[in-house]
Amino acid sequence: MTLKPPPLRNDCFALPAGVDWTPVDEALALLRDRLDVVTGREILPLGQALGRVLACDVLARRSNPPQPNTAVDGYGFAGAVPEGAHVLPLVQGRAAAGLAYEGEVPAGRAIRILTGAALPAGVDTVILEEDVTLGAEEIAFHGPLKQGANTRKAGEDVAAGDVILSAGRVVTPADLALATATGLAEFEVYQPLRVGVLSTGDELRDVGQTAAPGQIYDANRPMLLALLGQMGFTPVDLGRVRDDRAALRARLNSAASEVDVILTSGGASAGDEDHVSALLREAGAMQEWRIALKPGRPLALAMWDGVPIFGLPGNPVAALVCTLIFARPAMGLMAGASWQSPQGFEVPAGFEKRKKPGRREYLRARMRDGRVEVFKSEGSGRISGLSWAEGLVELRDSAADISSGDPVRFIPYDSFRL
Ligand code: AMP
Ligand code: MG
Repeated sequence: MTLKPPPLRNDCFALPAGVDWTPVDEALALLRDRLDVVTGREILPLGQALGRVLACDVLARRSNPPQPNTAVDGYGFAGAVPEGAHVLPLVQGRAAAGLAYEGEVPAGRAIRILTGAALPAGVDTVILEEDVTLGAEEIAFHGPLKQGANTRKAGEDVAAGDVILSAGRVVTPADLALATATGLAEFEVYQPLRVGVLSTGDELRDVGQTAAPGQIYDANRPMLLALLGQMGFTPVDLGRVRDDRAALRARLNSAASEVDVILTSGGASAGDEDHVSALLREAGAMQEWRIALKPGRPLALAMWDGVPIFGLPGNPVAALVCTLIFARPAMGLMAGASWQSPQGFEVPAGFEKRKKPGRREYLRARMRDGRVEVFKSEGSGRISGLSWAEGLVELRDSAADISSGDPVRFIPYDSFRL
């Protein structure tokens, strides 16, 4: 295990003076600019590295394939074959994958060879067994055949020393195949980013507790904890605090030594009961990012004892959208990953909508019959719509009214995984 990098600068969330409503892309560019990796590194066997972020470029130790070999079952010999009928006598024995033929195949003779077998000395071309008539000790076939036909060259996939995977990449199952094939046994990766989730609000109750009519269950915390786990971070449940500044301060103080990042939900606006923003402002650590975004403004960003806090809105829809759009790529950078923009797809709208130009909007959406449909209500307390949806429609800042059939960008929920 290596030393952790130094903490982020305290002014890393400062906004340029005079900014009013910040467009989403500018807010994202600021985060991308200011944030950096905060976790330490470790070496892991490949089998434990799935989903981890590579801490350095990975170079192939050996070539793939390591030797020239045959791509098919057939017969191997030397050189190109001209048009016309040919007969070649066979040598004794055969070459199979993992069972090399040790001798040399003389010019003008052929050898039985099976898929994956290294080409024996004297063989550079293979004819498919289906294209051959097999006699007792010879084969007959028709040309032409190019030199090298049906063979794989050494290193034609990857050459030893090639960079096969770049630092900042999140390891996939296919990466494990690539690294194993090219002779690697371990990766240097970043330690997972620990992300604390804290809910705030006097009205909140936990699952299993009884709730009076004026109370609601804390729906954000289980959602955010689960989401963080899916994104490859280590979720840490920081529980729930009442709308009480001293309690909130105490919780943040203790959390700052347990986690790398804190997500709070609720209390992030500018009202009397918005204790998260009030406390962060009091501590001089707060930046209120008024983002030209629906749903979701404002977003409170702060540094607390060197730990970044994302003060998310309390509404579950806004909390989820802000987490996906802002917190996810920001946390990705802190986890050592390269900047991640979610993969979206231009598809025809299966809905109509009036929209004000000048702000970005995200709608709960799903694909049906080649069109994207949106949830019947845009109310940001409508948790059922979050669950109904399979992704988000992103409406450009400049977009005005949308008519049925207009191209719009659909981002499946899956695109937000780290
Ligand atoms: P706030 O941002 O604290 O003003 O909260 C905005 C709305 O979101 C209010 O209706 C809150 O009751 C609701 N809310 C806040 N936190 C949660 C939560 N953890 N789960 C569900 N709803 C919440
Ligand atoms: Mg509240």
